[in-house]
Amino acid sequence: MELKELYQEIILDHAKNPRNKGKCDGYSHDAKAHNPLCGDKVHIYLKLDKDKNISGLSFEGDGCAISLASASILTETLKGRDIQFIKKVTDDFLNMIKNKTKITLNSLSDDQITTISSLSGVQEFPMRIKCATMAWHTLLSALENKD
Ligand code: ZN
Repeated sequence: MELKELYQEIILDHAKNPRNKGKCDGYSHDAKAHNPLCGDKVHIYLKLDKDKNISGLSFEGDGCAISLASASILTETLKGRDIQFIKKVTDDFLNMIKNKTKITLNSLSDDQITTISSLSGVQEFPMRIKCATMAWHTLLSALENKD
């Protein structure tokens, strides 16, 4: 299978069966965003525990396949990890989309890297970049909203 097809399959799978959809129990932070260009909406919920781990991470949203897949992949990849790790992966992801760099984090498995990289296809479609990056920017906003 070509890489492009594999990426497409991953995106469709996440868009059709989003992981971690809904509000997570006892969330401590949340943030939402709207992409008027495409009509995408996303609301990120996270639960930060005492050890600075994101023990709960989920989203509610509606929109195109890219935006749903992006939010679903984000929650699946980052749930249960600590803040430092989350910020590093988010930086790497946004760099990949904007600057076409590769994800090279040692602490991600090959499967996780393939899954995240599936969204790199939007590099060729400037109108869709926001669809892919919105959930990740929203996660960073949620982390900044201290309660
Ligand atoms: Zn969209």
